[in-house]
Amino acid sequence: MSIKGSYISIKTLTDDHLEKFMNCSFKFYYQDILKAVKQQYDWFQITQYVVNQIVKQFFEIHPKTRSLFTLFHLIDWKWRRVGVNVFESKRHYYEVTAKMTDHLLKMLMDHKNLQHPLFLYEKFRVFNEEIGIHLSMVFDVGEWTNQSYILRKFLVSDKMEVVEAFKHMAIVVSRTAFQKLPEKMEFYSVLSGKVYEYFPTENDYKDSLNYLLLVKEVMKEPSNYIKNSPDRRCASCPLYVDCQNVGKQEFTVRRKLN
Ligand code: SF4
Repeated sequence: MSIKGSYISIKTLTDDHLEKFMNCSFKFYYQDILKAVKQQYDWFQITQYVVNQIVKQFFEIHPKTRSLFTLFHLIDWKWRRVGVNVFESKRHYYEVTAKMTDHLLKMLMDHKNLQHPLFLYEKFRVFNEEIGIHLSMVFDVGEWTNQSYILRKFLVSDKMEVVEAFKHMAIVVSRTAFQKLPEKMEFYSVLSGKVYEYFPTENDYKDSLNYLLLVKEVMKEPSNYIKNSPDRRCASCPLYVDCQNVGKQEFTVRRKLN
């Protein structure tokens, strides 16, 4: 199976595009590029939305009043609006609730003394001359250091492809926006509890430029939009039925990117 069609023009690449493309480019193509199926938010996107709200509100509270108790109530207050029915099953809902709560409590309490975040869920849009497109990314929490700054992102995804893609985009966007690389970047996976740390250098900047140039080229070609191997997001995908009829094909795009 391959999608046939004319080249796709890429003018702006966002972190949201990148995550969707890495997760299932087939769905991304029909839902976001062709807009042939209705946007339908799945459990993963809803969880990410709620996590963003929890992290943002936690750092808006004065450091002196940030405690395990206030954080637990904040999580409980935000999460109780999420319906069980967006998940695969009740068991899946409780599984996500337990992991997300447990890991967020630990991850956020580790930074409870952060005084004035450099930025909090701020979107940066830059034009990168070398890649020739606009790049747009939300930096969740930024912190000044003596020499530079630290960038942090809190993700529901724990796919290495997504973390790597975000790392490359964060390097290029921050370097283009501030003319200076962050001293450190941290990616927190709120479901697995893993933390990925990077200390970018100027050589990494060149690698990240090359990575994004390749992504741009791959995204232009419709035949590169291929369905992913089934995962827990498939059950709520609007293409689920059509997708069963599509021939199995290896995810060649992802292999090229790695
Ligand atoms: S059902 Fe799964 S594999 Fe198929 S398009 Fe949707 S997300 Fe992709």
